[in-house]
Amino acid sequence: MSYDNQNIFAKILREELPCEKVYETKHSIAFKDINPQAKIHVLIIPKGPYTSWDDFSMEASVEEQADFVAAIGKTAPRLGVNKTGYRLLTNHGRDSHQEVPHLHVHILAGQALGPMLEGGDLPPNTNYLR
Ligand code: AMP
Repeated sequence: MSYDNQNIFAKILREELPCEKVYETKHSIAFKDINPQAKIHVLIIPKGPYTSWDDFSMEASVEEQADFVAAIGKTAPRLGVNKTGYRLLTNHGRDSHQEVPHLHVHILAGQALGPMLEGGDLPPNTNYLR
């Protein structure tokens, strides 16, 4: 998937759209989700043009990758949720219903979050390593 520099998060990074920032590092930024799915719902994104975690892993510098992972870890205590718990979630592509084609990690917290997946009644497929 090539990077679309007109996506919403690219516009936020260029400050063409506002966001409610909660944390920022040299290579990453965290801001509140506009349509929260839990009492606390924050998104963390790298500042570079990456569509997904696999794209980021292959194309981003080691410095960017270290910065992003640390930014995720440091956002949770800033939100005061490291003691009560939180869920990290990343969607990529069609099957996960990714809406914004710029890598983002959701932090969901502030309440009991329920099961990991809805309606997962399918038999496990153990033959998926390539
Ligand atoms: P995903 O389905 O993983 O791509 O999630 C995209 C997320 O971006 C959704 O939770 C949206 O509510 C959120 N979102 C979309 N536009 C904005 C915006 N302008 N500011 C903050 N969050 C947004």
